Amino acid sequence: MDSSQSRRKFLQAGLALPAAGLVSSAGLDPAFQGSSSAPQVVYRTLGKTNLKVSGVGFGIGFVPVPEVVARAIDMGITYFDTSRDYGDSEKIFSGVIKGKRDKIIIATKTPSSKKADIIKDLDTSLQVLGTDHVDIWHLHGRDRLAQVPDEAVEALEICKKSGKTRFIGFSSHDINNMVDFIVKTGKFDVIQTTYSFPIGLRIREQSIAKLQKAGIGVIAMKVVVALSGFNLKSVENPPARPNGDGPVAGIKWVLQNPAIGTTVPNMRTIPQLEMNFRAMSETYTPEDEKLLYTLNERIRPDYCRMCYECKGVCPKGMPVADILRSLSYHDFYGDYHHAIVSFRDFAREVRDVRCTDCGTCAVQCPNGVHVQDRLIRAQQLLA
Ligand code: SF4
Ligand code: SF4
Repeated sequence: MDSSQSRRKFLQAGLALPAAGLVSSAGLDPAFQGSSSAPQVVYRTLGKTNLKVSGVGFGIGFVPVPEVVARAIDMGITYFDTSRDYGDSEKIFSGVIKGKRDKIIIATKTPSSKKADIIKDLDTSLQVLGTDHVDIWHLHGRDRLAQVPDEAVEALEICKKSGKTRFIGFSSHDINNMVDFIVKTGKFDVIQTTYSFPIGLRIREQSIAKLQKAGIGVIAMKVVVALSGFNLKSVENPPARPNGDGPVAGIKWVLQNPAIGTTVPNMRTIPQLEMNFRAMSETYTPEDEKLLYTLNERIRPDYCRMCYECKGVCPKGMPVADILRSLSYHDFYGDYHHAIVSFRDFAREVRDVRCTDCGTCAVQCPNGVHVQDRLIRAQQLLA
């Protein structure tokens, strides 16, 4: 039995690990070690970039709330993540960061894969953001090798050489599929990947450790998505409101891993920001572990862990994990716009499938997700 299995069994038995065994300060800037007193920023170094980033960063998302972003900067949060294809996100963000550019680290992303488009997209982002450089220029959402062609890597390198971005990388939901390529290529400074309780226990730890060993900075995304399912029709009493203790426990769990440079939760209210902020300097406790376990069990039928173990099983070619991710933007983030936009990216033949036409679903999720029910919901809401 590996260590993650034994840990899970331990938790399932209703027991909790001692806090001292769970918390690590490795990888933290010694000048900014956390304490158990007033919440404070704890900075980490992002791989070999030497960028000092706040452990809690800020996922700007499609519709940032300017006063919340401004307050985050004032509180000392330094890491801000957006994208070329988040609608007006960069534009709204640019209005907040005027006069504050030197206080923050900006990461943004391109949906393009062609060399000329990637280079052009960066120029557009710089213009919209009102800055002469970004700190990190990502390819957005690359889960398969074919999505990172040679010309895309070449374009990123050109962007870096030009000084318009300091570092390069990409975001991925399927890091296990990409990690060997990333390490072998040796071109990427940072990688942004899905990582949250309890996914890491089973399927992503090794890949993240490989990135760390290669000196690649790791940014964790979707760190609290499982804990804020306020749009779930199947849950009468949602497992955790965005302002509850679930999200902060989730971030604390992620930050235990010293390989993680920063996290990018989306935040829309000041209380939400202040709650997540606590995660940097509070100790991860056995109570947090119990809470996370309980919350995750409650949403087990609805929340796809994006393990990709069901890849290729559906005879109609449904990309199950990817469709359920689109649905999660609605059900777990409350962001219908993001859900619709991401669903529209699927090919017509995928969008046209109706899971109600199948008697029994061929996909049996080992994590207990009710796949057919969830896909039918996605099709009713988003197709
Ligand atoms: S549906 Fe289940 S098996 Fe498929 S990706 Fe999601 S968690 Fe993994
Ligand atoms: S119900 Fe299952 S097998 Fe049928 S199309 Fe949907 S995912 Fe595929």
